[in-house]
Amino acid sequence: MQLSELQQEVHRYISQFKEGYFQPMTLVVRLAEELGELAREINHHYGEKPKKPDEPEGDIALEMGDLLFVLACLANRLEIDLGEAFSATMHKFRTRDRDRWTRRDRQEEDGQGGRADG
Ligand SMILES: [Mg+2]
Repeated sequence: MQLSELQQEVHRYISQFKEGYFQPMTLVVRLAEELGELAREINHHYGEKPKKPDEPEGDIALEMGDLLFVLACLANRLEIDLGEAFSATMHKFRTRDRDRWTRRDRQEEDGQGGRADG
């Protein structure tokens, strides 16, 4: 799915309701809420803080989906094209940060992907 399709689907969904999008400040708080929910699941699965026995099992992928939904709401509310924003971010990584990380040689690149973010 393209980011533009994702934003359009979110818009079609939100447009069904008279309330429409929340205000930007509310959406940022919603983003923080969903990030907290994702952090809780990550901490449960990989961290040192297990859930209490009566807490329901969560889903990391679902929490990422929730985050993406709210981010798309905020982008739509602010009329920001997430595809363009992402392209600008990648351009920044490929220019400003091009020498920040240790590059794999070509053979390593063809094998396993790594990650460099920040
Ligand atoms: Mg959630």
